[in-house]
Amino acid sequence: MQNYDIAIIGGGLAGLTQAILLGNQGWDVACIDRDTPQTQSDDNYDIRTTAISWGSRNLLKNANIWQDIEGRAECISDILILDEDSPVELEFNAADIDAEGFGWIVDNRDLRDVLFKHVQKNKNITHMTGQSVTSFEHNSDNVTVTLADNTQIKTKLVIGADGRNSLTRDHMNVKTWNRDYNQTALVCLINHDKPHNGLALEHFRTQGPFAVLPFTNDDNGTHRSAIVWTVEGGDAQSWMDCSIETFQTAIQTRCGDLFGSINVVGSRAAWPLNVVKAHTYVTDRMVIIAEAAHGMHPIAGQGLNMSLRDIAAITEILKDVSDPGNQALLQSYQNLRSRDNWSMVIATDKLNDLFGYDFFAVRALRRFGLHAVSRLPFAKKFFMKQAMGATGNLPQLIKEAA
Ligand SMILES: Cc1cc2nc3c(=O)[nH]c(=O)nc-3n(C[C@H](O)[C@H](O)[C@H](O)COP(=O)(O)OP(=O)(O)OC[C@H]3O[C@@H](n4cnc5c(N)ncnc54)[C@H](O)[C@@H]3O)c2cc1C
Repeated sequence: MQNYDIAIIGGGLAGLTQAILLGNQGWDVACIDRDTPQTQSDDNYDIRTTAISWGSRNLLKNANIWQDIEGRAECISDILILDEDSPVELEFNAADIDAEGFGWIVDNRDLRDVLFKHVQKNKNITHMTGQSVTSFEHNSDNVTVTLADNTQIKTKLVIGADGRNSLTRDHMNVKTWNRDYNQTALVCLINHDKPHNGLALEHFRTQGPFAVLPFTNDDNGTHRSAIVWTVEGGDAQSWMDCSIETFQTAIQTRCGDLFGSINVVGSRAAWPLNVVKAHTYVTDRMVIIAEAAHGMHPIAGQGLNMSLRDIAAITEILKDVSDPGNQALLQSYQNLRSRDNWSMVIATDKLNDLFGYDFFAVRALRRFGLHAVSRLPFAKKFFMKQAMGATGNLPQLIKEAA
């Protein structure tokens, strides 16, 4: 039986980041994932990009992680919002609020790679991979975690970062709110003739949003952007199976001439979309974070950003305490994070509904809303601060970088 202060179930982007922050704090941490780093580093495991908000960048800076990824991150300095065929446009420019940018686009493969390196070099972290966690048993002042090969570890605190279908959450008997959107996000990278100049395009359409996100130039200096194209669930497979020419033409049509002539680079991937929101996050010596607690629609690119706030909150709460499984401390994590996560889950859910309606009255309301926001400086400023992840009751590690 091996002993650890904290066992993190799930070594995805969230679990790895949590392990690094707690390892940096001096806790003896086991981070367990059913997949091996080789599998997770495979080129096709996760070809998505992530928009890391300004607040999330602060956390990664504070953990000394950002320094290793920033050379591969592209700044979003401009956001353009379009609604179906409406002529009304809404544009946000980071310079208007004297900000460097709203966020930075990173390739999940690059981020994962950097996180693996930090986990490897941190002597306080044991990375146990290629083994699923299968069960938990509660003793008086610890939890025994059993893996598929019957390895057992004893820990004072279990942190479930095991994704939307979390086994940890099931064991905790936590109820969830679920919704299947019957939508799929198709993702790929494109290269293009014209520079993107830091522009993120969000084109809301009834089938789902079409987003083009600025990405770094490739080694030859060719301009690149990332596509997140939401289609109706039933259409996804035909877009995955169609020829590259057909797929490319569809993307070109949706981009118009904003980026010049485009080419799809590498593979495409499909992510069916749903929401899973846990009603509570804490039981005896167990907590859930990230997608295990709140898997949301990617319409606003906020899923991992909200998870990083959870991670910051847990890290701050466990600073200088003797028992990481102390129930009152864990409860304070839930109190801090529950409302913020719930607001974002609801906001993304309703935003997707609002732009999904094709009724005249709803279209008119949307047009009015976009027009009003574009004319009201305080409303524009509010939305820009939201996009930066700079509003709300933020943990200190998110609020500012040391
Ligand atoms: C199309 C799309 C675009 C997105 N864009 C953005 C964006 O721009 N900005 C943003 O902030 N967010 C974005 N997100 C959300 C973001 O990608 C996710 O929040 C993040 O990748 C999920 O991280 P996670 O670590 O919580 O979960 P996961 O990646 O699901 O990791 C869970 C881990 O747990 C492991 N696991 C599960 N069960 C067990 C078990 N029993 N034993 C051991 N291990 C187990 C799994 O192997 C996995 O590695 C996007 C999501 C989608 C779908």
